[in-house]
Amino acid sequence: MRIDIISCVPQLLESPLSHSILKRAQQFGLVEVVVHDLRDHTSYNHRQVDDYPFGGGAGMVLMVEPIANCIRSLQKERKYDEVIYLSPDGETFTQGMANRFSLLQNIILLAGHYKGIDQRVRDMFITKEISIGDYVLSGGELPALVLTDAIARIVPGVISDETSALFDSFQDDLLDAPVYTRPAEWEGNAVPPVLLSGHFKNIETWREEQSILKTQQRRPDLWQKYKGE
Ligand code: SAM
Repeated sequence: MRIDIISCVPQLLESPLSHSILKRAQQFGLVEVVVHDLRDHTSYNHRQVDDYPFGGGAGMVLMVEPIANCIRSLQKERKYDEVIYLSPDGETFTQGMANRFSLLQNIILLAGHYKGIDQRVRDMFITKEISIGDYVLSGGELPALVLTDAIARIVPGVISDETSALFDSFQDDLLDAPVYTRPAEWEGNAVPPVLLSGHFKNIETWREEQSILKTQQRRPDLWQKYKGE
């Protein structure tokens, strides 16, 4: 799949895209992530991409023209399944959305900045608006990276042990069970003996019980959903 990220501060995206899972995903040719500097698409002097809001008020607004130029140039090249604007007033991002997006071919992620983007971009080009939570960040770059990571890691082949992602929290409306590694005892704290037993069935049952317990305690909303209520 291909993910195009549009940003006026593309430098913010560099490090997360060039390490760990996102690096692997791109190296293996499973996910192509292409970053576009909005300033390369403006016809205004001094690579300007923002201006004062009509009607006054604090903060600058990203202008429609450079964003429209960038999106249109991409859409000339290929068909996009979604053009997503990251925005605090969008639909809250979930694992289910990540799962669905990971099946798409091409998506555009548009990161806003400052006070936001000209509403006409939202009206004319955006097919989905997504928030990563009820708080406001300075720009849409981190949210775009959140989506990119959550989507890329579940594209088949990206994670070496594919089944691992299937048991992560939220995949089945349950939180993940606790995990341990060596040493088996640390400062008087021992690993639950069942995990050292080598008895696969018992380990599976223990993990399921722990998942249920944690979900009941921490996320009663998810627990209700899991039970189908
Ligand atoms: N004035 C906007 C509002 O109150 O809804 C906030 C603008 S915010 C300072 C600048 C940019 O950061 C937004 O255009 C958006 O792209 C991004 N952003 C901030 N918080 C976000 C969140 N929780 N989820 C997704 N994007 C967010």
